[in-house]
Amino acid sequence: MEATKSIFIQGEWLESESEETLTVVNPATGDQAGIVGFGDGRDADKAIDAAHAAFASWSQLTARERSKYLYNLYELVRNHRDELAELISLEMGKPLREAKGEVLGAADNFMWYAEEAKRVYGDTVPSSVSNKRIMVLRQPVGVVAAITPWNFPVNMAARKLAPALAAGCTVVWKPAEGTPLSAIRLFQLFEQAGFPKGVVNMVVGKPESIGQAFIDNPKVRKIAFTGSTRVGKLLMEGAAKQVKRVSMELGGHAPFIVFDDANLDAAVEGLFESKFRNCGQMCISANRLYVHEAVVESFTEKLVERLKKAKVGDGRKKDTEIGPLVNERGLNKVLDHIRDAMSQGARVAHGGSRLTDGDYGNGFFIEPTVLVEANEEMKIVYEETFGPVIPVIAFKDEASVVTMANNSNYGLAAYAYSENVSRCFRMAEQLEYGIVGINDGSPTQTQAPFGGMKESGIGREGGVYGMDGFLETKFVSITV
Ligand code: NAP
Repeated sequence: MEATKSIFIQGEWLESESEETLTVVNPATGDQAGIVGFGDGRDADKAIDAAHAAFASWSQLTARERSKYLYNLYELVRNHRDELAELISLEMGKPLREAKGEVLGAADNFMWYAEEAKRVYGDTVPSSVSNKRIMVLRQPVGVVAAITPWNFPVNMAARKLAPALAAGCTVVWKPAEGTPLSAIRLFQLFEQAGFPKGVVNMVVGKPESIGQAFIDNPKVRKIAFTGSTRVGKLLMEGAAKQVKRVSMELGGHAPFIVFDDANLDAAVEGLFESKFRNCGQMCISANRLYVHEAVVESFTEKLVERLKKAKVGDGRKKDTEIGPLVNERGLNKVLDHIRDAMSQGARVAHGGSRLTDGDYGNGFFIEPTVLVEANEEMKIVYEETFGPVIPVIAFKDEASVVTMANNSNYGLAAYAYSENVSRCFRMAEQLEYGIVGINDGSPTQTQAPFGGMKESGIGREGGVYGMDGFLETKFVSITV
C-alpha cells in the first residue's frame, strides 16, 4: 500500500523530509487501516515559514472575508460527516453515532467562529488627561501551533483552528499519530474551502521533534495544546523561553456525586454518558463515583442493569454503544487500574476483564466495569484511567463529599445529581472544577467555555471565551 501524503504546507500535499511512514491500526480488529507519511521538525519549520508568510495578508482581510472561508468549511464538514465519522471510527474505534456527533460538533464550531470573527470589538476608554484619547485594539497573536489528541480528532482541531483563523491568525496543526486519516480528510476539506495558501498547514509526524520546532521557532507566537498534563507541562516549560502564549486543555479526574435526593434513573443515564461514551476516553469522563450511603446499593444495581444492556463491539457496527480502547497501551493501563483496586479490597460488581472471545480477541475490548468498595488509596481514584471503569465510594454527608471531590490535582469537570435546588447551587459554587454538570452528564456546547482549573489547564475554548487566547490587547494612546 502506498503511503498517503499527510503533510500540507503552502497549499501543497508533500512527502515528509525523512521519507518515513506510519501504519495506522484499527483498534477493533487489529487490521491495518492505512499508511501515511510521517514528518518531523524539519517539516514543521517549513510549515511555520508558510504560516508566517501568509499572516500579513490573512490578518489584513476583513472579518467578513475570513468568515466566508469558515462558512465554506462548515458546509463541507457537514456534507462529509458520514465519511469523516467512518474514518474516526476506523482509526480510533469510536461508535459511529458518537463519531457523527463529533463531526457535527466540529462543523458547529466552524460556523460559530465564522460568526464570531465579525464581533472582535475594541474599546475606547475615558481618559484622565484632557488632550489624550485611549483606544484599545484586539489583534491576532500571529502564527499558532496547534497540537491535538486522538480522542476527538476532528473536533479538537476545530475548537482551536476555528477561533484562531477567525481572529486572523495563521496555523500549523500537528494531529495525533493515532488519528491521521480523519486529519488528512479534514485538511482536504480545508483545501476545498479555498483558504489562501499558507493560512492553514498540517504536519503529521514525530511528536517530540515537531513539538521542539514549535517551541524553538520564534515565528510561532502561540502554542494551543490539548492532551496529557505531562506533555502540557513540557510544552509550557519550553514556551516560557520565548514567553510564547499558551493555552492548555489537559487531563482530568472527574468526581460524579449522587446524593440521596437525586433522581437515580437520571443519574444512571448521566453517568453512562459521562463514563462510557467514547469508551471512557474523554478528559471530562467521570473517574470517581461518590454515592450517598443510603442509596449506594440501589444506585449500583440500576447502573449494573444499564451496563448489562450496553453492546460492546466494533464502532462501525450499528448497535455498538461502547467501542474498543484506542490501543494496547490504553488497555493495559485500564487493566492495571482494575488489578490495583482489587488488590486493595475493591470488588467487581460488573465486568472486570478484557474481552477475548471470537472477534473481540483481535481488538482492545474490555467489559464496562463497576468496582465497589473503592477507597482513596487506589490508583483509579487519583490517576486518570481513560477507560470504561468506575470505582464507587459511599459517602455520609455533603461536606465530606465536597472535600473528597476537590482532593485532586486536576480540576476539569465534576458532576452532581440532586433534586434539592439549594444543594445544586452549593455544588456549582464549591466544586473546584472548570466545568460542573448539575443533573447533566454531558456538559459541552459550542458556545460555552470549556477548560480546567489546577493542573487541568490554562485558558478556555468555546464561545466568545475561545477567541481570547488568539488575540492580543493593544493600547493606543493618542494626543489630540
Ligand atoms: P498526549 O500523549 O499528551 O498527546 C496529545 C498530543 O500531544 C498528540 O498529538 C501527541 O502526539 C502530542 N505529543 C506527545 N508528546 C509530545 C511532545 N513531547 N511534544 C509535543 N507534542 C507531543 O495525550 P493523549 O494520551 O494522546 O491524549 C489523552 C489526554 O488528553 C488525556 O490526558 C486527556 O484528558 C487529555 N484531553 C484533554 C482535553 C481537554 O480539553 N482538557 C480534551 C481531550 C483530551 P502523538 O499522538 O504523536 O503521540
